[in-house]
Amino acid sequence: MIIIKNSEQLKKMRVAGRITGEALALAGEAVREGVTTKHLDDIIRHHIEKCGARPSFLGYGGFPASACISLNEEVIHGIPSGERVLKEGDIVKIDVGALKDGFHGDSANTFAVGRISDEKRRLIEVTKKSFELGAAKAIDGGRLGDVGHAVQEYVEAAGFSVVRKYVGHGVGAALHEDPNVPNYGVAGRGLRLCRGMTIAIEPMVNAGGYEVRELNDGWTVVTRDGKPSAHYEHTVAITENGVEFLTKI
Ligand code: MG
Ligand code: MG
Repeated sequence: MIIIKNSEQLKKMRVAGRITGEALALAGEAVREGVTTKHLDDIIRHHIEKCGARPSFLGYGGFPASACISLNEEVIHGIPSGERVLKEGDIVKIDVGALKDGFHGDSANTFAVGRISDEKRRLIEVTKKSFELGAAKAIDGGRLGDVGHAVQEYVEAAGFSVVRKYVGHGVGAALHEDPNVPNYGVAGRGLRLCRGMTIAIEPMVNAGGYEVRELNDGWTVVTRDGKPSAHYEHTVAITENGVEFLTKI
């Protein structure tokens, strides 16, 4: 069931979104060689709690940390660890959620550690641009397929692939609500979008094939071919004036 948000609920989602965006930005600023993924997770938890909010991911399905932090060929759901030290050339995906006043924000970005390969640089740029093209289609009266199609078309033209197994989603009082928001699709098809819908658009883009697998830790999702992957996500609201980015700061 798709839950349409009224203006009061949207107000709360803006607050949760801002806290989410701030926590992500703070962690991104701390990305450098020698830092552990646990340190980044601590920064995120500290900021969210300081704002009187709760990390959405902590305990979600038993997840043991405040953020998902995934390196290189890890696509999503990496578990922060004090043993995991960033090194030059890595790319780091940080995925954050914050719950405040009953509503969630959800946002992710990919950061470079020092100098990275041209392929990784291009992968990050293409992923962000594909998000922007998809989000531009999240308009009142549009179709869900328009969003996924815009993402997929751009990514594949760049020679990369979009992950099929994991998709974007509605966001609200629950971290994951209907509808699913795939990063692939057929323009003009699918659910009709309308104002008051709040969704996370989150392309996961692989440098190689789109196939992924889960590691034995029960969480970390990696590319099947071991090639790098990038992630970019914002929670957005569909309004009468177009798309509003709730987690951008
Ligand atoms: Mg997320
Ligand atoms: Mg999400």
